[in-house]
Amino acid sequence: TERTLSIIKPDATRRNLTGKINAKFEEAGLRIVAQKRIRLSVDQAQQFYAVHKERPFFGELTEFMASGPVVVQVLEGEGAVQKNRQVMGATNPKDAAPGTIRAEFAESVGENSVHGSDAPETAREEIAFFFSGLEIV
Ligand code: ATP
Ligand code: MG
Repeated sequence: TERTLSIIKPDATRRNLTGKINAKFEEAGLRIVAQKRIRLSVDQAQQFYAVHKERPFFGELTEFMASGPVVVQVLEGEGAVQKNRQVMGATNPKDAAPGTIRAEFAESVGENSVHGSDAPETAREEIAFFFSGLEIV
């Protein structure tokens, strides 16, 4: 079975939405096989989002990701990467399908409540950024 990395972003932890978001994952058949609440430094956020470093929103994104606690988690299930992206909805909450996490909870394109890996290869790298094998059960 496939795994993907998910992050519940600071806008969502601040509004106490961790449980409601996790319910969406579990209802979709994604199993939470690792999870921890951490606070990223700006430096760590820049490392994690290095692929976006030339984008105009890089500064805003990395400052935001370091602005409060995040919940990093590994989700497991058949087609977990795509399934998670379906449950998350489009990046901009205005474009997100009804019932998706971003449609229900996201505040803006920047503060959009969740991150999910975009491909199985990226998922492996992003999981290794936060978790050791022993932490995933
Ligand atoms: P994520 O990678 O967080 O799961 P995504 O794959 O839907 O989201 P990306 O294009 O990878 O979207 O952008 C990464 C993140 O950068 C977005 O989730 C959002 O928080 C932020 N972002 C993207 N576009 C913008 C924008 N135009 N203005 C501000 N922030 C943005
Ligand atoms: Mg992305």
